[in-house]
Amino acid sequence: MVIPLFDRSPSGIVFDAVGTLIEPEPSSTIAYRDAARRQGIELDPELVRDRFYRALAADDLNPPHGPLTTDESYERIRWRRIVAHCLPEIPDLDRAFSELWEHFARPSSWCVYDDVEPALRAIKRLGKAIWVGSNFDARLRGVVAGHPVLAETLDSLVISSEIGFRKPHPGFYLNACKLMALEPGDVLFVGDDPAHDVEGPRLAGLRGGILIDRKRRAAEQIPRALNLVELADRIRARIDHN
Ligand SMILES: [Mg+2]
Repeated sequence: MVIPLFDRSPSGIVFDAVGTLIEPEPSSTIAYRDAARRQGIELDPELVRDRFYRALAADDLNPPHGPLTTDESYERIRWRRIVAHCLPEIPDLDRAFSELWEHFARPSSWCVYDDVEPALRAIKRLGKAIWVGSNFDARLRGVVAGHPVLAETLDSLVISSEIGFRKPHPGFYLNACKLMALEPGDVLFVGDDPAHDVEGPRLAGLRGGILIDRKRRAAEQIPRALNLVELADRIRARIDHN
């Protein structure tokens, strides 16, 4: 028997962006390695990868208004610090930072997962509001606009640098509901990060979150779907059942 993901169908669904709808192509590791290579520095991708994830895990230093707050100028400071941490050997940090900042702003630096189009179109047909809720910055708007399936199916975006709070701050989720003009109990979050996309929304009083567990790594007790098509099927099944 398949356990229902929710007791009744939500009115609005907020999808995380990176790791849920899109992923960098080439990987962030290779983009950083190439930025160093353009300055004549050859780095082992494994070393860059290890530095990148360490830097991401320790990246909430000196935010503008307390823990898990942000804005556009802080995002630039934060990403410059991450580039400096990943590529300490390069002679020109400013150049590498602006190249990487612009690289990740381009739609062509990102690919959309195969299950996104069928799932989002199916959920759209069910009459649900579909939003993105992301800790990316304003560059995400250009990335979404450059991928027709996202531009056509998404109703709007909630971006941490624009609303001032980063996931998993409760302010992020509550502001998202306010922008969607929906009660928190009517909004479901979906994403690949258990803390940001499942636990955070639950603690903020939302309907909850569903983990997209593409690599089947999640603990048994976390509400999850293996991909977005499975999620869409289960939302439809819930509507048929009600
Ligand atoms: Mg993610």
